[in-house]
Amino acid sequence: MSQPSLAAFEERLAASKVEIEALTQETLNLYRQVNLLYRIGESMNACLSPEDVGQLVLRESCKILRATSGRIVLDDGVTLGTRPEVVESELQVPIENAHGHLGVVTIFNKRNGFFTAADEKLIRAVARQAGIALENNRLIQGLLAKNRELERLNEELKAVDQMKSDFVSNVSHELRTPLASIKGFAATILADDEMPPEIQREFVGIINDESDKLSVIINDILDISKMMSGHMKFDVRPAPLESVVYDVVKLLNMLAERKGLALTFDLIDPAMILMDSTRISQVLKNLVGNAIKFTDTGGVRLTQWLEGDHVCLAVEDTGEGIPEDHLPYIFEKFYRVENVVHTKEGTGLGLALVRTIVDHHHGTIDVRSRPGEGSTFTVRLPLALPPGDAEVSRAEAHPDR
Ligand code: ADP
Repeated sequence: MSQPSLAAFEERLAASKVEIEALTQETLNLYRQVNLLYRIGESMNACLSPEDVGQLVLRESCKILRATSGRIVLDDGVTLGTRPEVVESELQVPIENAHGHLGVVTIFNKRNGFFTAADEKLIRAVARQAGIALENNRLIQGLLAKNRELERLNEELKAVDQMKSDFVSNVSHELRTPLASIKGFAATILADDEMPPEIQREFVGIINDESDKLSVIINDILDISKMMSGHMKFDVRPAPLESVVYDVVKLLNMLAERKGLALTFDLIDPAMILMDSTRISQVLKNLVGNAIKFTDTGGVRLTQWLEGDHVCLAVEDTGEGIPEDHLPYIFEKFYRVENVVHTKEGTGLGLALVRTIVDHHHGTIDVRSRPGEGSTFTVRLPLALPPGDAEVSRAEAHPDR
């Protein structure tokens, strides 16, 4: 057997060296590619913003594929990277996920025919990973938004819970005061056989007044629970608003006089509206009752006038007013400006009932107030008939007036 010559051996050695170098290069490329895919895959767990995902894809793929530069255009308007002035080769692939198309990634090179089929395969894999990372980001953002919403609702629940506790203590206090007085006066009458009849009458009168207070509080609580369960009933008929206003003014005049306040009604325009008179009367009793309760000097003035196809009724007082930061909440159930120290009677239900009743009549209520100067509550209700016809219709409804 002839021995291979040294030259032939050296030739094979050189060929093997080239082969090894090519394999090393290929392994290195594969390593880089795997590393790139791994790094982009990692970003799927990292809640990166679309901009961060885009930057990572561009930076790493340009490095691995020796591209001059790259550009990403997302369908939601985000654009990253630039297109160079001289472009001979470019690779463009869509960025997609299970829900559809998200954008396009393009990488560029100045040399002709630069990118290979393997490069395209790699950039497709990268784009797929980017699609998943973007989808993850969308899901995580959605979860974060839901979490924030849950936290907000939780805070609201806590506030409602607090208001309910305040309400229970307010109501217990409000019930206990007239009850204690009823019990006290009844016990005094029972214990004294020789009590003169005029004193007895006075005490029975107090028991009667205190029982009325109790029934007002209990009715408010029942009304609010009907309102909360949607069972409040309305018996709506056409009627003149001013007649209800006159009745309420007559009823509460004594209360105002006892505090030395003037209670007046300025009727500028009469108005026929569709209403449940008992409920509208309840609205006015609450508004005028509050105005008297929170006013120590001056008076309470009611004014009724027409504005387009609505009637406006303002209840204006010269009382203590309401601080601005409380105004958005006073129509909420159980809310009282004086939630901690109670110097005035009340349960915080009156204005919540007022608003529900006004809402049921397709009306609105607003309030303007300045601490120390007074408050004006204005109710707007739709007219039953156009302004011109209201007077005629009222005359028909009450021919004797
Ligand atoms: P309350 O039973 O406490 O009167 P309301 O729901 O009627 O409950 O009113 C809520 C709160 O709004 C009151 O506790 C009071 O702080 C404030 N408020 C209502 N009307 C007036 C008013 N005319 N002047 C000053 N404060 C008022």
